[in-house]
Amino acid sequence: MIRLDFSRARWWAAGLTLVFALTTAACSTTRPAAEAPMTRADSLAVVAEFSDPNLKSTLWTQTAVEYGGVARQAYALAELMLQRALSDSAWTAAIEQAERGSAAYRDLPPAVVLDVDETVLDNSAYQARLIRQNATYDGTSWNAWVRERKATPVPGAVAFTQAAARMGVEVIYLTNRDHVVEEATRDNLRLFDFPLSPDEDLLLTQNERPAWDGSKTPRRTFLADRYRILLLIGDNFGDFAPGAESSVGERQRLSQTYARFWGSRWIVLPNAQYGSWEAALYEFNYGLPYLEQLERKFRHLDPAHNE
Ligand SMILES: [Mg+2]
Repeated sequence: MIRLDFSRARWWAAGLTLVFALTTAACSTTRPAAEAPMTRADSLAVVAEFSDPNLKSTLWTQTAVEYGGVARQAYALAELMLQRALSDSAWTAAIEQAERGSAAYRDLPPAVVLDVDETVLDNSAYQARLIRQNATYDGTSWNAWVRERKATPVPGAVAFTQAAARMGVEVIYLTNRDHVVEEATRDNLRLFDFPLSPDEDLLLTQNERPAWDGSKTPRRTFLADRYRILLLIGDNFGDFAPGAESSVGERQRLSQTYARFWGSRWIVLPNAQYGSWEAALYEFNYGLPYLEQLERKFRHLDPAHNE
């Protein structure tokens, strides 16, 4: 997970609000009644306080029935596709496996590979805390959240993974959570009865092995040697294919290349809170000052968008 540093802009907005409030107070001759409508200064204060770019997306995740509906829809489709995949021994969801030809994988044990965050576990409570505390994402607070083991299931995820296990399909979790929080992640998953083998390590974390970095490709390749990968399920392009960390245009081109995978071999969950889609807008330049990131995002707004 990666976040913008928007706190500077908040201070800027808060400063403006303060200046406006002082000016208004100096010019005012009467005090507003307690029940008076909100003043402009109050409105600005509210905007400054709640201008977090994640406010709407986090509220959508936490309160909109539409979010739960989309998630359940994704997992209902996943279950249908799982049945189809099981009956077709040439079927694979992994590009890394497809390139080998079906003779290389048709007899391997079947598996589904799921991302964890915003795919099977909902971390919007962590996002809500950041917004309310006027804080930004960092690895320390993230790992502390993970160690609380309080993430809740994404709607539909428990039922799907349990159904897959009943069908004799191995359920594998491929996450960019760091290896230092693997045990906490296991506990959190088990708390909600997600299938997780006690005998085999089917939770592949980042940095668990030297080559297992933020790209999921080496870990998908590792799995492709051992399982027939029936479905990839995730919320981020990197959960499905190499090349997620490229330009917006290149990501679109890659997505088109694999158009037939979406909705059949690849099942995607919605995540408007964060992801490679957002960092692509400022070329993954995480060190860029906030306002410059914002400016680059602004440039991507297309008033003539017609796709
Ligand atoms: Mg994720």
